[in-house]
Amino acid sequence: MKELFLVSCGLICLLLACSFAQAQTFYDVTPAVKEVYGRLASQESVRKGLDFIKGDHENTVTEQKQICAIPAPPFKEQVRAEDFQKRLAGLGLSDVQMDKEGNVFGLRPGTGKGPKLLVAAHLDTVFPEGTDVSVKEKDGKLYAPGIADDSRGLAALLAIIRAFNTSQIKTTGDIIFCGNVGEEGLGDLRGVKALFRDIKDIDGFISIDSAGAEKITYLATGSHRYEITYKGPGGHSFLAFGRPSAIHAMGRAIGKIADLTTPKEPKTTFTVGVVGGGTSVNSIAAEARMQVDMRSNHMKELLDLEARLIEIVKRAADEETARWGGDRITVQMKLVGDRPAGVQSNDSPLVQAIWASTQVIGQRPVLDEPSSTDSNLPISLGIPAITVGGGGKDDNNHSPNEWFDPTDAYLGPQRIFLTILGAVGVDGVSEPLLPRRK
Ligand SMILES: [Zn+2]
Repeated sequence: MKELFLVSCGLICLLLACSFAQAQTFYDVTPAVKEVYGRLASQESVRKGLDFIKGDHENTVTEQKQICAIPAPPFKEQVRAEDFQKRLAGLGLSDVQMDKEGNVFGLRPGTGKGPKLLVAAHLDTVFPEGTDVSVKEKDGKLYAPGIADDSRGLAALLAIIRAFNTSQIKTTGDIIFCGNVGEEGLGDLRGVKALFRDIKDIDGFISIDSAGAEKITYLATGSHRYEITYKGPGGHSFLAFGRPSAIHAMGRAIGKIADLTTPKEPKTTFTVGVVGGGTSVNSIAAEARMQVDMRSNHMKELLDLEARLIEIVKRAADEETARWGGDRITVQMKLVGDRPAGVQSNDSPLVQAIWASTQVIGQRPVLDEPSSTDSNLPISLGIPAITVGGGGKDDNNHSPNEWFDPTDAYLGPQRIFLTILGAVGVDGVSEPLLPRRK
């Protein structure tokens, strides 16, 4: 009887343990990373940096409002860039410069032999020229287009540099702090594309984008976008009947695109987002245009979808030509968006470092869904990269009603400050977690 009791107790315990293990999707950092963060957290100088960031909160938010009030439409970031360049230079970074693309950056050198980490926030907004970007405050929240995305990232970045200056921490690796152009929309990552083209020895990348202090973006959704134009002879709908139509050709294409199938995993999507063309109701259309967006979390599936779509687009022109047997329909495809997809392991050094840093500041780290950010480019090149928030809360990004709640927003820069320290190493305290690529 006693034995039976013990056996059933054992079974119940085993069942409980199994269901507990199943309930947790377990992620943790390695003992080595834990040790690094244990040591960093106990350093007087690190404490000083973290305390500084908390004390700098009001100042950081003031700077965020100032940056937001300088318009930075796509391809017109220059005024904000020049202002940001002055702020970087004022904080004592070396080699502060603007590159040909319009990125502004400066260096905080390490003691040598360490990795080179690029920390950036994007200068551009989605808002066109003439948008009212003045900041309004109501019930403790700040309202303005671009107040979070990415004025918060830019302000957080400056607060982090000040924390380095105050704490006087000697890092092993070099840190480049950067305000970059071209993250949004048709900017098509032109800023980071130029940075990784021109600076060959970047070993890791952190993008500070919008608000938050818990989520971690480390997977990159790629996209290819096309503007497609069909052209034909055009003519009167009655008198010229028998000529091929550009709109009919495009309709053939859209019908076939609508029937494409794509995998659920990796998530792969397509849409014809915009159409236009034609002259009048009683004309055979001489021209028709559409814009197509394709996305995937893996490059292979994106390229596979693209190849099938291109084939459909061309075949539709040929079929419309063959239908009437006379004049030709031609088609042109212009690539207007090219963001590479990419994956990296969730135990990549920067993911580990930010996970541990999030715990040090008492927040709960979350590995986020794949998305399209400045980190797409380095991830596609195999360079460790993450996109994380600059603290606080936000909503309605990319709309005129965008708002930012600055409550406890200092946690954002604190978390990134710790991540940088772990990644590049602190002289005499911890070895860099981020390996050098060569
Ligand atoms: Zn953004």
